[in-house]
Amino acid sequence: FWRDCQHYISERLSDQSFDNWVAPVYPTRIGDQTITLAVPNALTKNYWERHLSGYVIQFSLEVYGLEYTPTFVIVPEDQRESNQAKKVVPEVEDTGDFSESQLNPNYVFETFVIGEGNKMANGAALAVVDSPGKTYNPLLIYGGVGLGKTHLMQAIGNEIKRKQPSARIKYSTSESFMNDFITAIRDGSQAEFRSMYREIDVLLIDDIQFLSKKDKTQEEFFHTFNELYNNNKQIVLTSDRLPNNITNLEERLISRFKWGLSTDITPPDLETRIAILRKKASSEQLDVSPDTLTYIANNVDTNIRELEGALVRVIAYAAIQGKEIDTELAASALHNIINKGEAKPLTPDEVIEYVSRYYQITPEDIRGKKRTKNIVFPRQVAMYLTRELTEMSFPKIGEDFGNKNHTTVIHAYDKITDEIETDIQLKNEINQLKQRLQR
Ligand code: ADP
Ligand code: MG
Repeated sequence: FWRDCQHYISERLSDQSFDNWVAPVYPTRIGDQTITLAVPNALTKNYWERHLSGYVIQFSLEVYGLEYTPTFVIVPEDQRESNQAKKVVPEVEDTGDFSESQLNPNYVFETFVIGEGNKMANGAALAVVDSPGKTYNPLLIYGGVGLGKTHLMQAIGNEIKRKQPSARIKYSTSESFMNDFITAIRDGSQAEFRSMYREIDVLLIDDIQFLSKKDKTQEEFFHTFNELYNNNKQIVLTSDRLPNNITNLEERLISRFKWGLSTDITPPDLETRIAILRKKASSEQLDVSPDTLTYIANNVDTNIRELEGALVRVIAYAAIQGKEIDTELAASALHNIINKGEAKPLTPDEVIEYVSRYYQITPEDIRGKKRTKNIVFPRQVAMYLTRELTEMSFPKIGEDFGNKNHTTVIHAYDKITDEIETDIQLKNEINQLKQRLQR
């Protein structure tokens, strides 16, 4: 994916720009409609967001028919992969080695906007930072995707590290925990595995719902948990649901997860969504009017990841079009996303229009009273399709077809239904018309 994407971008940039902005960037993760790119500094991130993100979206749409929105992590020069054409690890993150806490430096409290939906969770996170291992242990943050669980969890790690640089902090997803565990068994390196997860001060395990059904991993995690807990080490967990609702999770783990505090994050309200967009825009030094931010926040209400994705898309769109960001531009940049799921229902007029064109007659012929065969048949087909593809009643369809009696419509419907039973060619024809009308 990345090599092809780089090629796509290279054809649209000067060599110098390419070497400067694209060459040092590599993907660290391809997830569900997002691709995470490692960039060397904030300047590069900023340039990408303003000028290059749109190419990745365009490329993924054109070539894969899927929209991947780039997100960025800043990985300073000295921590970068030596081989920049690095493998792309799908979904499961690389755990790296012990010295690496795996914390994303962008996920800090300063960039976390507080609203009704996350106030409690944020407060609990701050309490944990104040006295790790002493207040809420474990702290469990749960809620739907893209609502800030990972951000908040990593903010805890980053903040403890900042206050106490010697603190040993380990962030891992439950999947990486499992992968490390499996690798350790395979290589006979259980001792290293245990020191990696137990000789630490703070353990952050993201997305524990994936422990479901992993019996051996659950057992290992049980022992890890006990060891840390008994030594008053802080444990923070996230999940997409309460542990009780994770199927095939051992009872002894469920009960331990309840020892501390469970706090949920719920979707942000409009004010919070606007505040998040405002913060993001100003951190990118972008001047976006309150109206436009409100427009985006009003139309993207699923989760914060999508909200950020929408803003990135608007910024990229403006850069490609060479225009200023305003509400009109935002509307055209986002129309794919916004109109999703509320496709307008098909109307009889559209069916009549399409069918008459297909049979090379006019819509008036269909609505009229002529009884010649070359007109009656398309009329019946159009009635049949309207009945099949809309929720309308027979009398209502009759009305829309030039005030015809509902028995005429029923007759047409039954006739076509019978005919496609025996006439394969007609059946294919009708199916084709159906498919095209549904699009
Ligand atoms: P989750 O782990 O719940 O799926 P993430 O923590 O990955 O969600 O958040 C998705 C994106 O939204 C991240 O880029 C994150 O920085 C951003 N985000 C989430 N909550 C907030 C918030 N309250 N303020 C600012 N940004 C947020
Ligand atoms: Mg997460």
